[in-house]
Amino acid sequence: MQTSFTPEQLQNPEIQVANKILRNCVHCGFCTATCPTFVTLGDELDSPRGRIYLIKDMLENNRPAAEEEVLHIDRCLSCLSCMTTCPSGVDYMHLVDHARVHIEETYKRPWADRLLRNALAQILPYPARMRAALKLAQFGKPFAFLLAGNSMLAKRLRAMLKLAPASMAPAQNLGGTVHKAKGETKARVALLAGCAQQALAPSINTATISLLNRLGVEVIIPASAGCCGALAHHMGRHEQALAAARQNVGAWSGQNFDAVIVNTSGCGTVLKDYGFLLRNDAMAEQAAKISAIAMDISEFLLKIYEPSRAAPGLTVVYHAACSLQHGQGITAAPKTLLRKAGFTVVEPADAHLCCGSAGTYNIMQPDISASLRRRKLDTLHATKPDVIAAGNIGCLTQLAGDGLPTVHMVELLDWMAGGEKPAGL
Ligand code: SF4
Ligand code: SF4
Repeated sequence: MQTSFTPEQLQNPEIQVANKILRNCVHCGFCTATCPTFVTLGDELDSPRGRIYLIKDMLENNRPAAEEEVLHIDRCLSCLSCMTTCPSGVDYMHLVDHARVHIEETYKRPWADRLLRNALAQILPYPARMRAALKLAQFGKPFAFLLAGNSMLAKRLRAMLKLAPASMAPAQNLGGTVHKAKGETKARVALLAGCAQQALAPSINTATISLLNRLGVEVIIPASAGCCGALAHHMGRHEQALAAARQNVGAWSGQNFDAVIVNTSGCGTVLKDYGFLLRNDAMAEQAAKISAIAMDISEFLLKIYEPSRAAPGLTVVYHAACSLQHGQGITAAPKTLLRKAGFTVVEPADAHLCCGSAGTYNIMQPDISASLRRRKLDTLHATKPDVIAAGNIGCLTQLAGDGLPTVHMVELLDWMAGGEKPAGL
């Protein structure tokens, strides 16, 4: 694709990156067929190619974002299915990230949007605040009928109430803890404990630590590590995302960890991108090192996992989180591990399509999210499984409550290696 940035514009390193990405696109349109929003809405402007044109026009003309661009870019899930499909290797992720920052800096959203986005950015990355919000939502759930109506605000508030689990596990605060390996220590890793996950499903971290310890891995969670920054990053809040990245890079650097383990694939994609995010920062070198040792739990377990219980005779339908399959290119490892653990593993049709969770997408775009959820659940049910397994808390929350248990794959692996049976089962 030809671009027409001026020499002055190209002095800006961010525009240089965007220019390179845009020039790789040959507007073939292959990506449209695998884009969940195009498949759902059928509008070219809700396809990757359409969004690329909108972003190109906005950046080349160096103008503030307009309502049309905001509408269609906000509808993008950042699922990155288009990157898996694209034959030209277009780096859509960094292009849409740039567009989101531009929107955040140049577009004034309606007051209700601003209020909600501020609240999400100030609550979700902090486990204690998230927990308090979930408790409030639990209390408010019976009164959801008061939020009747089809206004976007009412739909978003109803979507938020839906996120509240029926019961809450005791609070988990893993910051500053060290979990020794059982027997000989074969590796030392840092674990990203996550933010929303600690409040929504603390059992995932418990299973991860218990399994790693049993396999001879010491697990350390530095007190100063926190949210990965993904939520802020996907809202275009660049400085908040960079601050989170710097904080974590500082917490994990200089300790000779064999890996930084992530059991929430949405966070893993961002951790693996810290090197890029902080490329012009004083911490660039440290950030690149952290990105190089960041690993999804399934990648790390692949070489060391050994089950110890007899096969339970359960059929697991594996839901591939977009951040894992498209963001990190990890497709086989989770299924290989589940089969090794003794489960029958099946997959749904259209496994490449997003379930509609996508960070705060299920709150901000409730209609598209609900449609993608229904489509995904129908394909999952069609495989006649006993349980749905995934590697991302966002997907598990999105797919819960439709008659099938949803568990993190690491909980199943831990169970088959001598750990607790997942409560969800
Ligand atoms: S598949 Fe790639 S090259 Fe083709 S239109 Fe989509 S982004 Fe551009
Ligand atoms: S990231 Fe996903 S929703 Fe966004 S354009 Fe690409 S395929 Fe479509």
